[in-house]
Amino acid sequence: MYRCSMERMTDKIKTFSHFGDAGHGGITRYSLSPEAILARNEFRRRMEKIGATIEIDDLANVYATLPGTEPGAKRIVMASHCDSVKNGGNYDGILGVMSAMEVLETVVEQQIPHKHPLTAMIWTNEEGSLYPPAMMCSGIVCYDAMPESIRKGFQYENMMASRSVLNASETFGQALESSGWKGERRYRLSPERYECYFETHIEQGPILEDHLNEIGVVDCVLGMFNDRLKFYGQTVHAGTFPMPKRRDAFHAAAQALCYLHEEIDSLHIPDLVYTTGEVVCHPDVHTCVPDYFDFSIDVRHESAQALERVLEVVEGCQNRQWAGCRCEVVRAWNRDTVYWDKELVGYVREACEELGVTHQSIHSGAGHDAQFAAYMLPTTMIFVQSKDGLSHCEPEYSSPEHCTDGASVMLNAVLKADKR
Ligand SMILES: [Zn+2]
Repeated sequence: MYRCSMERMTDKIKTFSHFGDAGHGGITRYSLSPEAILARNEFRRRMEKIGATIEIDDLANVYATLPGTEPGAKRIVMASHCDSVKNGGNYDGILGVMSAMEVLETVVEQQIPHKHPLTAMIWTNEEGSLYPPAMMCSGIVCYDAMPESIRKGFQYENMMASRSVLNASETFGQALESSGWKGERRYRLSPERYECYFETHIEQGPILEDHLNEIGVVDCVLGMFNDRLKFYGQTVHAGTFPMPKRRDAFHAAAQALCYLHEEIDSLHIPDLVYTTGEVVCHPDVHTCVPDYFDFSIDVRHESAQALERVLEVVEGCQNRQWAGCRCEVVRAWNRDTVYWDKELVGYVREACEELGVTHQSIHSGAGHDAQFAAYMLPTTMIFVQSKDGLSHCEPEYSSPEHCTDGASVMLNAVLKADKR
């Protein structure tokens, strides 16, 4: 059993938290921004210092590789992202990069023998906070291996044309060109050069903490669907039009949302989660009865049958009247549950047991680059406990002990994969 260094891990956490420091404990580090470039430079500096070879592909994904002893052996890659959401924390994404760096640093320091080359990798633009969509570059790299339904959202030309949410005249393609980090396509992650994929990430939920476990042995990313419910009414003046004659689209949507919660909850599906997080109201004026309202519903569960039962309720909304308004349900997108490689999941569990780290099986409710990588390579993930389950916010926190144990688990799991 090998253990990573908490001192070195703590130093990395501290150092990377400066890049994009928003002044109140967290960071804003959009992909390819000056702050993200600082993080990339730090990654390159530390990896070159231990003798790793740096490669950069045409999407600015960065790969730092230590050679193995067996000629021609494919690489084992450990990856995550260094970009954040606006006012995000110091762990989402970057913990996976720091863990990968820590593994390589430990391998060099302790002269740990390994046959396969070992690669630490940074994915570009995972969050998609400035240039949507999320997981953009893993979507492009894994494009050929992905199912058609997912792939159509990641066409290269469309991704290059993605406009900055802050400045519509700027595209991702332009940001890539001017970043100084655009490399060569031949360096992209591929099944020809890579053996398998590991990603360490914060849990972003409260389950590990609630169960007093440090590490999550992740088995899958949950299947989900995301629909829009649209309500059509009639705009009239707020002061002049009698209540009984109104067709208020906002009122209709409110009724439907309460109905959905009652009906979906009455299905009693354990572990189901669903969320309405986005609304559009038209004309969105306080003296006007809204003639249009729509809201999102995001539903996640491991079982396709469970999702099907919820979908029936959601689509059923179209057949009812809501405050005199018509309802239409439109699919935004969906994905099936993606299972990790069973052998790799087993290595992660064994590593936890051998290190004496408290752990449990867990699903990933959030999307990660790993889910696209899984279409191309045997893949698995390791979760590190999140304090209070918080993420995508400044108080996001995982202790140095837990972060270091996460890296140690990945190191030992990688070494098991190296031996097979
Ligand atoms: Zn992330």
